[in-house]
Amino acid sequence: MSTQSSSLDRVPDGPVGITILGATGSIGVSTLDVISRHPDKYRVIALTANQQVERLVSQCRDFEPQYAVLVDPDAADKASVQIKSAGLDTQVLSGIEGLEKVVALEETQQVMAAIVGAAGLRPTLAAAKAGKRILLANKEALVMSGKIFMDEIQSNNAELLPIDSEHNAIFQSMPSDYSKGLKTVGVKRILLTASGGPFREADVSTLGRVTPEQACNHPNWKMGKKISVDSATMMNKGLEVIEACWLFGTSPDKIQVVIHPESVIHSMVAYDDGSVLAQLGNPDMRTPIAHAMAWPERMSSGVADLDLFETSQLNFERPDMERFPCLQLAYNAMNQGGTAPAILNAANEVAVQAFLDNKISFIKIPNVIKITLDEIESAEALSLAAILAADASAREFAQSIVAGGMQ
Ligand code: NAD
Ligand code: MG
Repeated sequence: MSTQSSSLDRVPDGPVGITILGATGSIGVSTLDVISRHPDKYRVIALTANQQVERLVSQCRDFEPQYAVLVDPDAADKASVQIKSAGLDTQVLSGIEGLEKVVALEETQQVMAAIVGAAGLRPTLAAAKAGKRILLANKEALVMSGKIFMDEIQSNNAELLPIDSEHNAIFQSMPSDYSKGLKTVGVKRILLTASGGPFREADVSTLGRVTPEQACNHPNWKMGKKISVDSATMMNKGLEVIEACWLFGTSPDKIQVVIHPESVIHSMVAYDDGSVLAQLGNPDMRTPIAHAMAWPERMSSGVADLDLFETSQLNFERPDMERFPCLQLAYNAMNQGGTAPAILNAANEVAVQAFLDNKISFIKIPNVIKITLDEIESAEALSLAAILAADASAREFAQSIVAGGMQ
């Protein structure tokens, strides 16, 4: 995943320049918290958001980046006025072009890819093309475009370090030469842990009535709404199975999902000799963020020490595929290959938004995805155009079934 030369090696002096895509979100805010602990080591080059003017401007006051990007042009105009009146030198850009520009700046050495959903694909690919160190939180980008994305990383000598806590844990538990192939380095399988979300033990007959607030109330992690709903359906784990296949060059049958409600073990790697290596910690995203920023070194993250006496028990269960049909749908899409994962992802984004907007019930989310996967034929995912076309037709079809009540 990471190539031989580190981008940290390329610039000998001064703090490392970092650009944050999705600075106003949960991961963006945690990243800024880590940066604020190491002002000598990191400086913020650009901060970006979709349309959250107030929060982005306040972050600009605190971190004084060279650029701020708001994708929404009206929001960019508003931010520009506020930034000027605050006496800041930050230049405000808008549109996807603005995102693509700031990731490729020479001063940008690391890019935190923390936009939610398919919207992150183009700027994250632009960071890969520009040969940057990518700290990847935006799993949807990799799910959609796995092969193209990994090829761009390779051919542009970029680095890809996983932020998703499970993948970061797997990375930490893998031998350093795992890119030779898992079989070659003696890795038998990956044990991908999952909390099981807020409805792990709920009576299945009540799931049709759960509200967006209940679905977003994750027992262990405080996250954005979309990933919180994905955790409640376990589509998040499905997307993570696909993400792990691309990051570690393996297939879904080598990835075992393990329900671990305490979220203390963040994932494990099982070896041929019977060893199982794990990474543990408190469930706080600042650990994987600090790990990926500092890699191959280590630095403090602000996360409290893990107290095993306080934790006391670690539990494990098999996932219940009937309670969580989204997990099976994701395995199926990855096994099918081509544009099927992009179709799965697009239908899921539409279904989750429809649930958050109270247009469909929680248990209809997998139905929308399944009907869309059955209807939209998958094709080979050889170009970005093919992937974006699959994404667009799946979105349109999923919207039509949400609107028509066909689910
Ligand atoms: P969030 O909803 O809190 O934040 C999303 C960010 O993306 C915001 O800054 C928003 O302005 C920006 N954004 C949204 N739509 C956009 C668009 N169309 N164009 C440009 N920017 C846009 O989300 P989050 O919880 O921080 O998650 C971000 C990503 O990280 C997701 O892919 C998620 O799966 C992944 N992730 C999050 C966590 C977590 O703990 N929150 C853990 C693992 C992985
Ligand atoms: Mg995760």
